[in-house]
Amino acid sequence: MDYDVLILGGGIVGCAAAYELSKFSLNIALIEKDHDIADDVALVNSSVVYDGSESDDTLMSKLERMGSELMPEITSKFNVPYKKCGYMMMAEDDASEKFVEELYGHAVSKGYKNIQLLESDEIHKVEPQLNIKASKAMYSRNFAVTLPYDLAISYGEVAFDNGVNFKLDEEVLDIKRINKGYRVITNKNRFTCHIVVNTTPKEDYSIDVSEKLHKKRGVMDYFLMGENAKSKVSTIVTSMKDIDRNFSVVPNIQDSAIVTLKDEGNRDYRETLEKISDIMGGIGEDDIKSYRKAGFFKDSMIVDDSMIHQGYIKVVGKHYGIVAMTPAIAKIISETIKDNNKNCVLKKDFFDKRRDFIKFRDMTIEELNEVIKVNKDYGRIVCSCNHVSEGEIVDAIRRPLGARTIEGIKRRTGAMSGGCSGSICLLEIARILSRETGKGMLDIVKDSKNSNLVVSRIKEFDEM
Ligand SMILES: Cc1cc2nc3c(=O)[nH]c(=O)nc-3n(C[C@H](O)[C@H](O)[C@H](O)COP(=O)(O)OP(=O)(O)OC[C@H]3O[C@@H](n4cnc5c(N)ncnc54)[C@H](O)[C@@H]3O)c2cc1C
Repeated sequence: MDYDVLILGGGIVGCAAAYELSKFSLNIALIEKDHDIADDVALVNSSVVYDGSESDDTLMSKLERMGSELMPEITSKFNVPYKKCGYMMMAEDDASEKFVEELYGHAVSKGYKNIQLLESDEIHKVEPQLNIKASKAMYSRNFAVTLPYDLAISYGEVAFDNGVNFKLDEEVLDIKRINKGYRVITNKNRFTCHIVVNTTPKEDYSIDVSEKLHKKRGVMDYFLMGENAKSKVSTIVTSMKDIDRNFSVVPNIQDSAIVTLKDEGNRDYRETLEKISDIMGGIGEDDIKSYRKAGFFKDSMIVDDSMIHQGYIKVVGKHYGIVAMTPAIAKIISETIKDNNKNCVLKKDFFDKRRDFIKFRDMTIEELNEVIKVNKDYGRIVCSCNHVSEGEIVDAIRRPLGARTIEGIKRRTGAMSGGCSGSICLLEIARILSRETGKGMLDIVKDSKNSNLVVSRIKEFDEM
């Protein structure tokens, strides 16, 4: 067999599974069709670490709770930003009040700690600046925020350093059952393996014709607020007009905020802005840095091990809390494989640390001067909004599983995500990427295939 385990898909779940399985003496590869790992992880820069109390689905609530309990340890080990901020789900009408009371009742019966049902006046004691009239709120102090890309990339890098073979730009076309294992057919290779961990959603393979499980439950609008629009609330706040129409403010890691709106219908722009302003405290149009729209998914996530006796395990479903669930899902996958595989023994030389890197903006002048003495690239600022140096960009490209796309550099370094959104530094970063990877400028892509930055040359001087 070519591999003991083949992991299909390099999203956050695939990378976390690779990390957990790399603790064992197994020969593992991960296949990802895109140029980079974790390309589809949340479009916004902070993810909520749900504790499960907000969910009315018992299994999803358990996965979130287990994931959120593992999150502080994993983020601190990888040095990934993680901030406990708490959560208030506020009821604004009779139906949502009943819903909030029921959720609180479920949380209490499940033995949640740090949870309260707040009356109107108590809400304002927690968040005095909040400008919303809510009758009741479920308040959980367990919620947190983290950086989803940083977490996914850390999982991938540590797995890579512990021997997982990452095959990027390679698409799985089919999986076939063979004697004592599987043949995984990609657009480039045919691999054999004993165990398949399939995290690629919505794919139909010979082995596994999955039903289309993903049911979109509405649309979410995401407003990423600029640095000047500091949130007046430090708790994650959800205001519920009714159960299917809600509005949340998530204080993000960088002290600004993400505002989300979930609704089925069309929005009135002014009303939306007023609502944001009410919660955030007097913000205007100019404070909105970027806007995204994305589907809202609430499938039941299934870690399907019904074929584990044949060495096949798959993760099915799309859910708004997958980042929070990831540490739990990865542990369940690795425990299931360990329990069903006698040859699965822990490695003695497993190295449970992410390689260090330099962050210009977090260093003192003295520390920086020391670094610049060794490498002058760290003294040349490329992204002046977020203070990202050329040294950091080069490191992001040269690291294990380094960036190969503009988006990959943005996610690893924070360059281009400041006030100018890359309008000043994008070209310089593309030049560095072109120089470091030996690719021509015409081949530099934003993220996915065919997202080339430069479409063609304007003038072909050779012809003159
Ligand atoms: C806007 C937004 C906000 C979110 N906010 C939160 C939040 O606050 N908290 C939270 O917990 N979660 C949040 N989520 C959810 C979470 O970010 C995603 O659900 C999660 O990243 C999905 O990870 P995954 O690994 O399951 O799937 P994916 O990221 O989809 O990974 C699957 C991977 O498989 C690859 N692939 C697919 N088919 C093939 C093939 N045939 N061959 C090879 N590779 C293949 C894909 O390229 C992809 O990289 C949010 C999601 C979105 C979109």
